[in-house]
Amino acid sequence: MARYTGAVCRRCRRESKKLFLKGDRCFSEKCSLDRRGYVPGQHWQNRRKISEYGLQLRAKQMVKRYYGILENQFSRYFNLAERKAGMTGENLLRILESRLDNVVYLAGFSSSRAEAKQLISHRHFMLNGKRVSIASILVEPNDVIELVPTSKKSEKFKTILENLKTKAVPMWLDVDKEKCKILVQRLCNRDEVSLEVEEHLIVELYSK
Ligand code: SF4
Repeated sequence: MARYTGAVCRRCRRESKKLFLKGDRCFSEKCSLDRRGYVPGQHWQNRRKISEYGLQLRAKQMVKRYYGILENQFSRYFNLAERKAGMTGENLLRILESRLDNVVYLAGFSSSRAEAKQLISHRHFMLNGKRVSIASILVEPNDVIELVPTSKKSEKFKTILENLKTKAVPMWLDVDKEKCKILVQRLCNRDEVSLEVEEHLIVELYSK
């Protein structure tokens, strides 16, 4: 299982927004943001006015933290998003959503993206029949992700597979809970991204 530090909760507090970085804890009464009684936006009101650049930077940092990626990788995703047809901001979110670790998390095979990343690096999943260890792989429509048969029987996945039965899954993924198989039916739409972010701020930041 992934090891967590208090830093992840500080990130949520800094954003005054639940970023769901700590798995099941985020949905429990232990969530430190809920316990402290902040509501999104409340924190900001007590601070001095943030500049336009500050807002753009915060939007980028929030997205990076949410998906657990570093600066260089984020820049590469942005360049890729720019080269695609359509709105760059939406393309960027669609690319991030299609990361293998995000798909494994959304399908319910891990309690957080950080844990999904670790499970993939430990080679518990196959993509289109081949064992993979790279969490940043971008999935495509019709790709199939499966839990390795030996992992299915392991103690590690016992609770995960138990929780899987009740997990709600986004429409763009089709999860066969019995076979522990995920079919990517299509890439996600903007309104299916659960992170609340104004992605145009990131586009403005990069266009400077
Ligand atoms: Fe921590 Fe709550 Fe943020 Fe989860 S959502 S990382 S528990 S503050």
